[in-house]
Amino acid sequence: MALDLTSPLSEVPGIGAGLARGLAGMGLTNVGRLVAHLPMRHERIEALAPIGELAAGATVSASGQVTATRVLMRGRKPRFEAVLMDGTGRLDLVWFHAAYLRDKIHAGARLRVQGKTRRLGPNLQIVNPQWWELGPGEAAGAERARLRPVYPATEGVGSRQIERAVERALPIALPRIEDHLDEGYRRERAMPALAEAYRMMHSPRSEEEVSAARRRLAYDELLLMQLGVALKRAHRQRTLRAPALRWTPAIDRAIRERLPFTLTPGQDAAVVDVARDLSRPTPANRLIQGDVGSGKTAVAAYAMLMAVLSDQQATLMAPTELLAEQHHARLVEMLSGARVRVALLTGSTPESARREVLEACASGGVDILVGTHALLTAGVRFRSLAVAVIDEQHRFGVHQRAALRAKAEEADASPHVLVMTATPIPRTLAITLFGDLDISTIVGLPPGRLPVSTRVVEHAKRGEVYAWVAKKLGLGAVERPSGAQAFVVAPQIGEEPEEAVWSGVGEDVLSEAGDDAAGGGSATAEGAAAGRADAGGGRGGGAASRTVLALARELGAGPLKGARIAVLHGRLKRETRDAIMRRFREGQVSVLVATTVIEVGVDVPGATIMVVEGADRFGLAQLHQLRGRVGRGAGRSVCVLIGSEEPATPDAMERLRALATTSDGFAIAEEDLKIRGPGEMFGERQAGAIGLRVADLSRDLDLVRMAQRDARAWVERSPGLTQPGDAMARRRMLRAHGKWLGLGDVG
Ligand code: ADP
Ligand code: MG
Repeated sequence: MALDLTSPLSEVPGIGAGLARGLAGMGLTNVGRLVAHLPMRHERIEALAPIGELAAGATVSASGQVTATRVLMRGRKPRFEAVLMDGTGRLDLVWFHAAYLRDKIHAGARLRVQGKTRRLGPNLQIVNPQWWELGPGEAAGAERARLRPVYPATEGVGSRQIERAVERALPIALPRIEDHLDEGYRRERAMPALAEAYRMMHSPRSEEEVSAARRRLAYDELLLMQLGVALKRAHRQRTLRAPALRWTPAIDRAIRERLPFTLTPGQDAAVVDVARDLSRPTPANRLIQGDVGSGKTAVAAYAMLMAVLSDQQATLMAPTELLAEQHHARLVEMLSGARVRVALLTGSTPESARREVLEACASGGVDILVGTHALLTAGVRFRSLAVAVIDEQHRFGVHQRAALRAKAEEADASPHVLVMTATPIPRTLAITLFGDLDISTIVGLPPGRLPVSTRVVEHAKRGEVYAWVAKKLGLGAVERPSGAQAFVVAPQIGEEPEEAVWSGVGEDVLSEAGDDAAGGGSATAEGAAAGRADAGGGRGGGAASRTVLALARELGAGPLKGARIAVLHGRLKRETRDAIMRRFREGQVSVLVATTVIEVGVDVPGATIMVVEGADRFGLAQLHQLRGRVGRGAGRSVCVLIGSEEPATPDAMERLRALATTSDGFAIAEEDLKIRGPGEMFGERQAGAIGLRVADLSRDLDLVRMAQRDARAWVERSPGLTQPGDAMARRRMLRAHGKWLGLGDVG
């Protein structure tokens, strides 16, 4: 029986039953799967040379027979030594900390070794060489240098074993690998055929072959995904109808007159994109991204007013109650005197008000409904929803938004959807995660914004930082406190205490603050924490970064004595967090000690100081986002990044300094992606679901762009991918992405 891609590995000559079982344990059950298991890198194997011809100080590869071995105990450093002879000379091999090798390398064995030689007396020596044993009759290897694939391996099955199995499977697989891209298509893009790409990946003749193979396979991953996305997009545009909103010069003027400022050129460009979308009868699906503070809200407001001026409704969904309230308040202010009815709906809207809002919304008595996620689940009905804006999305990618949109479409409406990101996203990620969206990027910030000045401070100088903060807050001054406010953010280390412990600090501060706004600052974290926090958890003891509670206590007892300190962290209930944030915004709390839960997008005009403890432990994009919490008022703001007591790496501190010199959120995001990868930035689940194994989003911008462009053109040329010749690409796309893209209906 002829073997093919689906043949079990146990049937492949040269792959024993044991190895086949081991490979099956890794999910590599047949020829096709094994060949799809790609090396993670390649290592250079030097050309084999006779020992007698080896030079000192060079990286060399040799083979021979082990003639003697011994273990030497030198202090606590056992070393294993072996002598290798090949008839032309003698090579000494030394491994440190490797007594275990005595059970692996025996006199009489044939080895191939590689490493850097040095001269030791009359002989050459290699310290800690790479080595592998040659089986009986196994050739020592090619005389030419080559690149050896290094495979993801497991404890039971090593890379070398996988390599040997692939060597056996490859000749079976290669002639049977069909290409979903035809020759002309490949030639235009200077790409190898698929089978050739696999050959070059597993058995490359040069570095160039590895990169050509990588490029083809990475492109394939991206292309198949983008084909799915493009198909979905085309399907949506073909089948869904959205209200085409009126967009005339008069309407444009009317809306601009309502905005409290003149739009920046960046905002203008985004507004034009959006307005053009909304004036079409197909539902817009657009991502508005811009740096922190670039003014995304104004673009949203413009879109919503377009709906209202066409007698339609709009909704704005924010991730937190506080942010929803802030949006609501701004819209109400902006529209005072106009006949536009704006309503707010959040989890804490009282039942009676809630019923009223729902009713008004369904009957058209509300023009703009602002709210939280509650909007999606609360049985909200619109009379005619034309525009839905989702603010400050960050962790929501294609999957989650598909669900949101489905929800919005329940009521038979296909609104235009705008999504606004919380933070700049590198282009590659934006296209991959938000590939089904059109993207507008707001370039530049509103004029007159004072940049936040950023300082990087060693942990040792922490005391000076807080002394400076105390001075800025006017603590201990004879006159009234300055009214300045500060955020202090610390990384979350371990679990934050339960709420009961926290509220010991918080309630005291908050209730006192309620009585006597800016008074003598009698309520301190010190008193409260000393009384109750210990009772609750007995933690802290002044350790700076253990928990934010401990940090608050330390600051309240010492450097920031007399300040009104509140604590905010993720284990607090939503309402409690909102309440605390509100007090802070209203100025009743002067120092907010928090984990990174502090609200995105919330304006606290009085907050001009941001201190981040253990800053080297945060991602750069996250620090940039935190930095964006200050500098929203008129005053000059400062962000102080304090390193950990033992900084993760010297590099980490260096990167913080780089952050201090740039305020370009996009550049920072790119850098962050390089350092931490998409999983860290956007959550493993989301990044993992995309399933990119070869493509590297921190490097492959060209490929990502090309894949998106090609996929869109392809779907345009062949709607539904139904032309002859599309079948294979379509099948592969559906297999890889059909499910999560919900392409069942399309396919
Ligand atoms: P983000 O893009 O971070 O959501 P916002 O929309 O909250 O930014 O805007 C940040 C701040 O800048 C707000 O206080 C807003 O009023 C102000 N702002 C926005 N656009 C302009 C503009 N064109 N001119 C002046 N101020 C602006
Ligand atoms: Mg915003």
